[in-house]
Amino acid sequence: MRKILVLEDEESIRSFVVINLKRAGYDVVEAGTGEQAIERLVENPDVSVALLDIMLPDIDGFEVCRRIRAMNLSVGIIMLTARTQEIDKVTGLMTGADDYVTKPFSPTELIARIDAVCRRVRGEEPQPKRNELRSGPFILNMENRTLDRGDRHIKLTQVEYTIVKLFMENPGKALSREEILNAVWGKDYFGDLKIVDVNVRRLRMKIEQDPQNPEFLTTVWGYGYQWGK
Ligand code: CA
Repeated sequence: MRKILVLEDEESIRSFVVINLKRAGYDVVEAGTGEQAIERLVENPDVSVALLDIMLPDIDGFEVCRRIRAMNLSVGIIMLTARTQEIDKVTGLMTGADDYVTKPFSPTELIARIDAVCRRVRGEEPQPKRNELRSGPFILNMENRTLDRGDRHIKLTQVEYTIVKLFMENPGKALSREEILNAVWGKDYFGDLKIVDVNVRRLRMKIEQDPQNPEFLTTVWGYGYQWGK
């Protein structure tokens, strides 16, 4: 569960935020002063995002932000600002905040901002780019027509590239040798079906850790091949 720190001295606003975050499934740590917020963060190093009010009775939210950054914690910071002056936003971002939300804000807006900051800060679940296919350790880049397995760059012929693309677009689906031949070489190709087997065998040498016991380009006996088991 994600943990959020809420620093806000006005109780009514703080409890409004806390209730809504809890309802959305977050774990919440509360603080009413800047000093308290720093203490809570030290006690809870697993906080993903800190929401910092700016106007506080002791040190202000910008100072809290500066101190958090000085501690080098990998926490996302969203400033809660009551004022709409641009200067607040600029100062907030200059002191190391990731985002700001202007009061009054809706719970939906706040949660959307928190989620966005969480993704950025923790680098969670990188979204696949439009021009690439991902499967297990493989990334097929359809712009450069390249295949990577983890850090390893695999050199493919254009035919091999087309075969891999066909498989990665149809994960877990048994493709007959005829289907593969038609999709890769075209319906007008008059060659032997064995060309499919030859290319699959060569591809296995390139992409499988143990080509004799393929994990990805698997055989469907008496039929063809499939991607995955
Ligand atoms: Ca305040």
